[in-house]
Amino acid sequence: MTLFAQFTGYADPSLHAHGLYIGGQWQPGGGIPVIDPSSGATLAEVADASVQDAMRAVDAAEAAAAGWRQTPPRQRSEILRRWFTLMSEHAEDLARLISLENGKALSDARGEVAYAAEFFRWYAEEAVRIPGEFRRTPSGAHNILVDHEPIGIALLITPWNFPAAMATRKIGPALAAGCTVILKPASETPLTAYAMARLGEQAGVPPGVVNVLTTTNPGPLTNAMLADPRVRKLSFTGSTGVGRSLLAEAAKSVVSCSMELGGNAPFVVFDDADLDAAIEGAMVAKMRNAGEACTAANRFYVQSGIHDAFVSALTARMSALKVGAGYDPDTQVGPMITTRAVEKIDRLVTEAKARGARATTGGATIAGSGFYYPPTVLENVPVDAALAHEEIFGPVAPIYRFETEDEAIRLANNTEYGLAAYVYSGDMKRAMRVGRGIETGMVGINRGLMSDPAAPFGGVKQSGLGREGGVTGILEFMEAKYFAAEF
Ligand code: NAD
Repeated sequence: MTLFAQFTGYADPSLHAHGLYIGGQWQPGGGIPVIDPSSGATLAEVADASVQDAMRAVDAAEAAAAGWRQTPPRQRSEILRRWFTLMSEHAEDLARLISLENGKALSDARGEVAYAAEFFRWYAEEAVRIPGEFRRTPSGAHNILVDHEPIGIALLITPWNFPAAMATRKIGPALAAGCTVILKPASETPLTAYAMARLGEQAGVPPGVVNVLTTTNPGPLTNAMLADPRVRKLSFTGSTGVGRSLLAEAAKSVVSCSMELGGNAPFVVFDDADLDAAIEGAMVAKMRNAGEACTAANRFYVQSGIHDAFVSALTARMSALKVGAGYDPDTQVGPMITTRAVEKIDRLVTEAKARGARATTGGATIAGSGFYYPPTVLENVPVDAALAHEEIFGPVAPIYRFETEDEAIRLANNTEYGLAAYVYSGDMKRAMRVGRGIETGMVGINRGLMSDPAAPFGGVKQSGLGREGGVTGILEFMEAKYFAAEF
């Protein structure tokens, strides 16, 4: 049986127990059921780490730290490049695995694997281009030399919605920088993380450089790791609520934090936009991962002149989507991650409808096994409905009408979040002006997809701190060291 058949061929239950990966060893265990959201069935069981396991992972990361830091950048680069190649060779198996445990449609899962692998290729390239600096002091009397050093052991915590990409977006730059890491993936989607760790082993990642542990009890484990003075970095992707509490915990030991948190993206369409392009972009911005994305368009602001045409065109496209099991090749919209996620979407839609919103398609839960919610378009939504302020994280497109540019900017900024925004207009000057006026870390101009490993990804306001990807992503895992050098 091949490596991936172990994870994906669930005919043999004895193959379902997956242990923790610490110091290059697989430690058997169980205790965390992994649920297939497409059917509600249990797929596998993975180990449930204790605080002692977490501290052993810190020991392992510490034991490997000096060696990895001293490994020449070229060698670190080549290991990451091999990991990229292995992910690419196993792309279809990984996509099926993601689809199984996360529920997303295979087409989305394939897209994720390609995106995820690119972080290893990109940081294989960046590992050998770590910047430094030399300059004279303003007085001309002295020299300033700035070097960048690996920050130390990094704790990486990732969500379930992109089980591969959120891990590689952190592991890639951390390893390129010379850091050793402990990855704690979401317990809903651990199989992808463990499969990737196996590929990392094959790529030549030395024992202890990458450790992976899953737990049902993340609070006490991460608190213990953050209190250990050897852990110097926390890189977290997840909800703003959990991010806030981790920031408070990290503050106790002054641990450096990078935070990729929640979003509430506005999608602004002006009268002069190309309607077909705007609908195409809206479908991607809303429906990638069935709406379970931090960059998902959460609020559609559409100018009066194009509003009705936009509503009917979006309704036609959304109602034609095929909902089904993620791994069914015909599926375009898979299930949500849990029944709790479906309940949240239902609560938000019900509240909006009670306040006057009208569903032009969808708008009510689907009976049966699996955690499904239908593609939904809502019009006439009050601007202060709960779903204008909370992440919907599902296939629901609420549409609001606006009249003026200033009104669009004001509405777009009426949120604690500031991750992504989308602007559609035929007038580039206006699109850029509005893009500058919207308080987010990223703006799509006449584009519904912005994620790119070569670009800095991240948010402002309560959507996060720091940037992942791009040329600056590696610096999140490094400290500048200044030498006041006399020579
Ligand atoms: P979550 O915050 O519930 O969980 C994220 C991770 O944190 C998981 O691994 C979870 O086990 C862990 N966790 C939960 N409580 C913890 C605690 N007390 N201590 C330590 N770790 C803890 O988020 P989620 O539901 O898995 O993911 C969805 C959220 O992630 C959404 O808000 C989404 O917008 C956000 N997200 C953001 C980005 C981004 O780049 N900004 C990307 C993807 C997802």
